[in-house]
Amino acid sequence: MGEAKILIVEDEAPIREGLGKRLEQEGYRVVAVGTLREGLAALAGAPDLVILDRRLPDGEGLDVLAALRASERAGTRVIVLSARGLAEDRIAGLEGGADDYVTKPFNLRELLARVQAVLARGPREEEGSAARIEFGSFCLDVGGRRLLKGRKELPLSKLEFGLLHYLATNPGRAIDRKELLDRVWGYDRYPTTRTVDFHVLSLRKKIEQAGKKPRHLLTVQGVGYRFEP
Ligand code: CA
Repeated sequence: MGEAKILIVEDEAPIREGLGKRLEQEGYRVVAVGTLREGLAALAGAPDLVILDRRLPDGEGLDVLAALRASERAGTRVIVLSARGLAEDRIAGLEGGADDYVTKPFNLRELLARVQAVLARGPREEEGSAARIEFGSFCLDVGGRRLLKGRKELPLSKLEFGLLHYLATNPGRAIDRKELLDRVWGYDRYPTTRTVDFHVLSLRKKIEQAGKKPRHLLTVQGVGYRFEP
């Protein structure tokens, strides 16, 4: 895995160089560029992972993601760096097919752990159809941003979709409310973790049977929630 090729597209030189150096120390082959135009050109080098800043001097970083997903190398992993860390940003990237997010300013060690975790998953194709996640009698159509029960579409708000998508892509793992706030809402000073509970309740109304114990969105006492397909 140390031989993996990583493309960094980030216009802030200290971040680009610091991150590049650190990844090279870990044994990765690194190409680092500072503009959207160079990022698009560097995709020809067939990186295994792209670390992508959203705000680039000549455009929107997600354009690199879109170009990649539309290309023959659609399986390439992508971690998006987001300066704003707002839910809107995250959800936009998630719809665009990012594999992970890191909010700036980030902790280098945490980013390295995310890089390792994302690369360990291999190329996207091998996960099967990640564009659809099936559980019980439901199907979460990630590309279409819809929740389906049979042919019926159940309306979800943006945050409900983001929350369900994050939980469903981490099945069987107890996830605490803070992680959900960080990963779905992405706003460090969100007033209260009760917001998570509120959205879980509204999701349960849509995917669980009234009056019965939840089958998919389980409460983990003292921690948060666990998703069971
Ligand atoms: Ca930037």
